Amino acid sequence: HAEKETLGFQAEVKQLLQLMIHSLYSNKEIFLRELISNASDAADKLRFEAINNDALYGNDHELKIRVNFDKDAKTITISDNGIGMSRDEVISHLGTIAKSGTKEFFSRLSGDQQADAALIGQFGVGFYSGFIVADRITVETRRAGAAANEGVRWESTGEGDYSVEAIEKAGRGTDVILHLRAGEEELLSNWKIKSIIRKYSDHISLPILMQKEEWDEEKKETVLKDEFETVNQASALWARNKSEVTKEQYDEFYKHVSHDFQEPLTYTHNRVEGRSEYTQLLYVPSHAPFDLWDRNKRGGIKLYVKRVFIMDDAEQLMPTYLRFIKGVIDSADLPLNVSREILQESRDVKVIREGSTKRVLGMLEELANADEQETKDKYTTFWKEFGQVLKEGIGEDATNKDRIAKLLRFASTNADSADQTVSFADYIARMKEGQDKIYYVTADSYNAAKNSPHLEIFRKKGVEVLLLTDRVDEWMLSFLTEFDGKELTSVAKGGLDLGKLEDEAEKKEHEETETQYKELVEQMKGALADKAKDVRVTHRLTDSPACLVADEHELSANLVRMLKAAGQ
Ligand code: ADP
Ligand code: MG
Repeated sequence: HAEKETLGFQAEVKQLLQLMIHSLYSNKEIFLRELISNASDAADKLRFEAINNDALYGNDHELKIRVNFDKDAKTITISDNGIGMSRDEVISHLGTIAKSGTKEFFSRLSGDQQADAALIGQFGVGFYSGFIVADRITVETRRAGAAANEGVRWESTGEGDYSVEAIEKAGRGTDVILHLRAGEEELLSNWKIKSIIRKYSDHISLPILMQKEEWDEEKKETVLKDEFETVNQASALWARNKSEVTKEQYDEFYKHVSHDFQEPLTYTHNRVEGRSEYTQLLYVPSHAPFDLWDRNKRGGIKLYVKRVFIMDDAEQLMPTYLRFIKGVIDSADLPLNVSREILQESRDVKVIREGSTKRVLGMLEELANADEQETKDKYTTFWKEFGQVLKEGIGEDATNKDRIAKLLRFASTNADSADQTVSFADYIARMKEGQDKIYYVTADSYNAAKNSPHLEIFRKKGVEVLLLTDRVDEWMLSFLTEFDGKELTSVAKGGLDLGKLEDEAEKKEHEETETQYKELVEQMKGALADKAKDVRVTHRLTDSPACLVADEHELSANLVRMLKAAGQ
């Protein structure tokens, strides 16, 4: 494949490019963050592959990123000596979008520029963001371990297609050359680029180098010297002291590790010593990813061992119900050549997972129990985005079940709203005198729950009922039978026992009614013999004439519906 070849972009890339250039223009500086982030990932990948193959370094052991600009040629070049790409990798990585949730993303685009811009921000644009400021991009790359004549040049104007050809390239790694659009010349300045790097990429642990500048008295302008300076702090952010890291730096680091464009909701950063020694920097995103419900979804934790990147998506480090958490865990105990199989078995990993789970729950409790409205609102956002996933924890994590139960939020008859805002504690505080149970109803929609005939008697008595309408609720309830010593009771099940809520006079009246209708009930039982197991006089209805109930020990009607829908 020596000759130059022209290939078409995947249809989605074309669509994304057009949208992105327009909708992200007001935020154009992010192109540099994205390209530096890729360079840093490339260095991580090289370090990891080199653990078992030191020869990949050749005679170039110092991993770094360089940013150059050329005023005459109107180019900015981002260079790294990381893993590089082969021809096939160039074609698949820079010609297609191999990201999970891509289909979902495109199906949600509406054509409304503002709404779409926000969506693109959530999806992340990565490499292609270079086209916001460049009308042509040239990539020259050479895979670590490949020969000098196995270099590849990729070039595109970001319209329909791109070219690839073989080139000679002196060193391994990748140069991304941006040919700036007319009007973007202000980017061609040392201090401008430096300030963008400091703003967005200071957290990158590799040195980012730029050529030094000095004033030339004769020419009356600044000229570039042959000397380089490091313009970022160049140390792993998670290894720094908390007090030395600003919120902005934490936020930018989040965008780098998560490939998200939006700020995180909150984070926790700790150095843990004891049975196992590790550092954790964990973030709660502010929105659910497009593939939250994808069972094969990759996790969000990057594993490092003593600063060396080991793997992305180390799912063993976080329980499944916290799969939306992003961040970094850096262990001091694991071996560098650790594999996914070893992680599965490792006691250190178990300790880390338990510790991290507790930290995450603690971080959520802090939001949930906060006094200031702003922090409370964050929990509301969290619950909207991730509440359904957190509910999985009730069944999955017996150890932390009580803590998770306290974090649950429900809709209830107390407010006329589908918003899930009521905690068990709120419910208990409003319980009626003599009430010793927590009542709930399950249904497949808020309206169905709210209008359930089972609620009539509770409305009449002013007893609050939780309205549970998420798919996962029935499953969750099979693991959650009580809270704080109070039994969770479905209003739709069995002979409803209102306990002390029923007074003596009522009881007597009920008994009388039952005797009065005994004959009718017997006749109905006969008529419905093959359809109903039992027919009873009920006191739980005030307006509706009749309702269906499940036996106390049987699956509820809602669960039966769900199982049927799932083809069981
Ligand atoms: P992401 O970083 O989220 O994977 P990008 O669009 O930023 O998406 O990059 C796409 C892919 O292109 C990367 O996953 C990587 O495989 C490849 N890539 C981009 N830049 C580089 C680089 N400097 N060195 C090696 N590979 C790169
Ligand atoms: Mg990227």
